[in-house]
Amino acid sequence: RIELQNFTKRFGDTTVIEDMSLSVASGEMIALLGPSGCGKSTTLFAISGIHRIDGGTLHFGDRDVTRLPPQDRPVGVVFQNYALYPHMSVAENIGFPLRVQKLKPAEIKSRVGEMAELVQIGNLLKRKPQQLSGGQQQRVALARALVRKPDVLLLDEPLANLDAKLRLEMRSEIRRLQRETGITAILVTHDQIEAMSMCDRIALMKDGRIEQISTPAEMYERPASRYVAGFLGNPP
Ligand code: ATP
Ligand code: MG
Repeated sequence: RIELQNFTKRFGDTTVIEDMSLSVASGEMIALLGPSGCGKSTTLFAISGIHRIDGGTLHFGDRDVTRLPPQDRPVGVVFQNYALYPHMSVAENIGFPLRVQKLKPAEIKSRVGEMAELVQIGNLLKRKPQQLSGGQQQRVALARALVRKPDVLLLDEPLANLDAKLRLEMRSEIRRLQRETGITAILVTHDQIEAMSMCDRIALMKDGRIEQISTPAEMYERPASRYVAGFLGNPP
């Protein structure tokens, strides 16, 4: 499980997250939902280790990872723009995190094959990212995020760059992957339909804090405040 306690984040003298606590159960997929600037990505980056945590603690299970550098954390990250390496083939992209870990080439090859099968791009391994559709690029990014078999999968607006049809397809595809691997996942989105259709629970954020955290149905039926009701487009 992921346990973020009393998390505070400052940029210069501006505090963007104050005293936020979030607990994600093992194998759960949770959405961080909210309007632009409310602190979703900042929270995700703190969990991945890209941003330093200024106050509070972060645990993965019993392990205190608050001060652990990003490469030592058991997390896989998918960014909005996928951040694939343009000069590398699909296979090299997926295998890159393992090369950094200095695994043997034969082992890298077999793990890349396994991941490519999982995300169903086994036939595209020799291509370069620019020879792929948006959805295929996203599958590569997912495979790369999962290749180290992390405990936690972090997704920052992973569907934002896809057209409407692909977005629908990839919603269920990401959920399938998450269920199949049993990985604990956090999805950042500003799209309530996406959050509701993909996640076990939703944490709705406002100005650097969590306004309500509950199952999608509960949030929709019993919004905790006017803000929540308004955000869901379902004012009292
Ligand atoms: P969006 O939906 O637009 O991606 P978000 O919820 O992900 O928004 P964050 O990126 O977490 O929002 O930003 C939260 C606040 O922190 C914003 O006010 C933003 O301007 C500020 N912020 C984020 N990164 C930095 C930074 N590197 N330096 C200074 N301020 C930052
Ligand atoms: Mg963001």
